[in-house]
Amino acid sequence: MSSLAEQVREAGVVGAGGAGFPTHVKAAARAEFVIANGAECEPLLRVDQQLMIAEASELIRGVELMSEAVGASRSIIALKKKYQGAIDALRTEIARRESRVELSLLGSYYPAGDEQVLVYDVTGRLVPEGGIPMDVGVVVNNVGTLINLCRATEGRPVTHRVLTVAGEVRRPVTLSVPVGAFVEDIIAAAGGTTVDEYEILDGGPIMGAFSSGYVSKKTTGLIVLPTDHKQVLYKRRAIEIDIKRASWACDQCRYCTDHCPRYLLGHRMEPHIIMRLIGQQRADCIPPEDLAEAYLCSQCGVCGMYACPTTISPDKVISALVEEMKEKGVKESLLRSEFTPHPVREGRKIPVSRFAARIDVLRYDRDAPLQKEPLTVSRVRIPLQQHVGVPCNPLVSAGERVEKGMKIGDVPEGSLGAPVHASISGTVEHVFDDSIFIRSPGSPG
Ligand code: SF4
Ligand code: SF4
Repeated sequence: MSSLAEQVREAGVVGAGGAGFPTHVKAAARAEFVIANGAECEPLLRVDQQLMIAEASELIRGVELMSEAVGASRSIIALKKKYQGAIDALRTEIARRESRVELSLLGSYYPAGDEQVLVYDVTGRLVPEGGIPMDVGVVVNNVGTLINLCRATEGRPVTHRVLTVAGEVRRPVTLSVPVGAFVEDIIAAAGGTTVDEYEILDGGPIMGAFSSGYVSKKTTGLIVLPTDHKQVLYKRRAIEIDIKRASWACDQCRYCTDHCPRYLLGHRMEPHIIMRLIGQQRADCIPPEDLAEAYLCSQCGVCGMYACPTTISPDKVISALVEEMKEKGVKESLLRSEFTPHPVREGRKIPVSRFAARIDVLRYDRDAPLQKEPLTVSRVRIPLQQHVGVPCNPLVSAGERVEKGMKIGDVPEGSLGAPVHASISGTVEHVFDDSIFIRSPGSPG
């Protein structure tokens, strides 16, 4: 019998909360705590809250398996107090199994699900700057990941993704779709759009990015927004404009820093200082060590979308800066582990509803019930990189017949990553550089 880490790797399990970190790496670690992250703090998304009800048994089994593998003495499912249906379902299942899994109930604030925020709020441990939860003996997995982990031990690879379709759609819904399904097929299942001109975000309305046209193992939601929606304009705005605004519109009020969840944890993350430096001179003229704190940014969007009273986007500027620094080979240098959270942290937590109102998505905050039957589609385009690490190499060629669940791509031996599997049975029509297109028999060409 292979180890849990091997089973999880073979099944292609990666972080389902949006990060895509290969789960087998965590399953091979040692830790005192296992935390199942069910905080789901982005507005409009309903995936984790409904999975915790519908798949309570598999989730608890997944938490137990992960805890056993890493040698954890405490196993905790962290979710919001307001998810009463999930709390009831999990408590019932814990009692039925006589499980030692505990629940930790969180307030409804953003970003409760950020790993570093979560670890502190659940365990009181502070992840070092630039570190990961495993540095303080904690393994964190999204609840969907742990359900997939449980299925991996039954030989079931990741072929489907549960996501919420919301925004300008007739019937908001949460449903299971084959990995690689096309967004128009999924939106049709939500009754179609209610506007003619729209953009689709892959993920939540805060941290989501414009959709590639098909979904991956990491897609938590598809949010349809009108092309002139505030969030679309924010995300579409050219980075050059954001950088110019930092120089002429930033009045150094420091609201961005005072609300930054990483700053409030005690990290040296001060976006107003980065805006000042960028505003005063070109980034390539600033000593890299002065910008090193950019690496501490979680890209939560609080500074630009919630805090800044003008129209500056520190989150976008910092993201561009990090890309540039990585290209230039600037190493992360802030790795401090001795610090204390800011005393006003509790009072600065941002209610999700207030953030949703600020970015104008409260009007889309409707039920998106979980559809029992998975969506059936006749074509998929399966990305070869759905994880942190290196892309998969294709294991199939055009014209080849594949069955659902068959491994069709894998990373080179010894590289970080996870394999991908056919999510429908059919014929491989194309092998692109970045994806594999499969069509089921009998569907229109
Ligand atoms: S996006 Fe802004 S608020 Fe969030 S961690 Fe980065 S600097 Fe802080
Ligand atoms: S909140 Fe906006 S204006 Fe204030 S310091 Fe930050 S970027 Fe500048």
